[in-house]
Amino acid sequence: MKIGIPKEISEKERRVAIVPKMVKQIVSDGQEVLIESGAGESANFSDLEYEQAGASIVKGTQLLYSEADLIMKIHPPQRHEVEMMKTDSIYIGFLAPVSNLSVIQLMAEKNIASFAMEFIPRIARSQSMDAISSMASIAGYRAVLIAAQYLGKFFPLMMTAAGTIPPARVLVIGAGVAGLQAIATARRLGAKVEAFDTRPAVKEQVESLGAQFIEMEVVADAEAVTGYAKEMSDEFLRKEREIIGSRLAQNHVIITTAQVFGKKAPVLITEEMVKKIRKGSVIVDLASEQGGNCELTEAGRNIKKYDVTICGTVNLPSTLPVDASRMYSRNITHFFRHLYKTEDGAPDFEDKITKDSCVTYKGEIVNEIVKEALLKRGTNTHD
Ligand code: NAD
Repeated sequence: MKIGIPKEISEKERRVAIVPKMVKQIVSDGQEVLIESGAGESANFSDLEYEQAGASIVKGTQLLYSEADLIMKIHPPQRHEVEMMKTDSIYIGFLAPVSNLSVIQLMAEKNIASFAMEFIPRIARSQSMDAISSMASIAGYRAVLIAAQYLGKFFPLMMTAAGTIPPARVLVIGAGVAGLQAIATARRLGAKVEAFDTRPAVKEQVESLGAQFIEMEVVADAEAVTGYAKEMSDEFLRKEREIIGSRLAQNHVIITTAQVFGKKAPVLITEEMVKKIRKGSVIVDLASEQGGNCELTEAGRNIKKYDVTICGTVNLPSTLPVDASRMYSRNITHFFRHLYKTEDGAPDFEDKITKDSCVTYKGEIVNEIVKEALLKRGTNTHD
């Protein structure tokens, strides 16, 4: 199989789907790797390194797409990218299928077999393929560094000849993969950290990182079988905002990561609440692309309101392109090997990881979530 790695075309994207180390592994499996010239440049991987790892460098996007039997990417493909893909080929990468229905329909029409990274089920044996988690942990780490950059005080306790400076206090809302990494990073920088999440299982993990868990009446079934949080009732969110509101004045940094898979992020900090936050504080809203946990967040912008800096972060993994590419590359290589491991080269649809992640196959849209989204639109043929 000829595996093609195009240069990512999304604005400000610096990652690449496959790094030279993984090229070596894929080539040793007996596959061919074609990489678009310059695809790894912004993550510091040169064409020469790819060549030495066994890849062929292809000059020109069109040529790469016309030769590849399988495309590996990070960002969901745009329509013109799918148009360039070969009929009967394969796509592996993020797809954002529900918000890209017309692109998915085109994939089905071109008989492209497509597999979505975001639909890999979160089960123990899929951990090595879980790019949502690896990218979330980068975002959690980066969020703390952004907060430290905007905060006008030290994170650690400082005992100096000029006096003792107390540590920064950090509140983390949502202690999933990103939140836990944010807690660990803030602790490493010496901050005092407290955190909250709706899933009861999280308390122990928060405490094991040296942070305090904010107690609230936990909801026994707040976690769905998928491992993700369930959507909470309006009454619960009202109580939650009260509790968060009572902690805001004592924290310097608030990192919000609360998300519910496939839904708009819950609003946990309203404008009225921001008014009560102490001057100079920083909110880093990792849920900004899903609507934001803070009512005032503007995705992609850092703004100042009521003397509080509110960072609406987008695509933080791209700001750490070297390690983010390494992690993503490992995830996608494991996923590819899982999908195409049989002698005859056909995916095994009895397998949960394969079944759940497949979006289009043999000319059909096969994924239930995507089919449902199409039905909701009231049409099976167009967006
Ligand atoms: P996510 O990004 O969807 O959500 C982030 C966090 O926000 C979650 O911890 C969620 O509980 C929390 N949240 C949602 N609504 C909230 C609210 N109203 N208030 C406060 N917090 C709220 O989730 P994620 O971090 O990608 O993953 C969540 C969990 O899934 C992980 O911590 C883990 O337990 C599980 N997981 C399992 C596997 C696996 O077994 N392979 C892989 C990845 C994740």
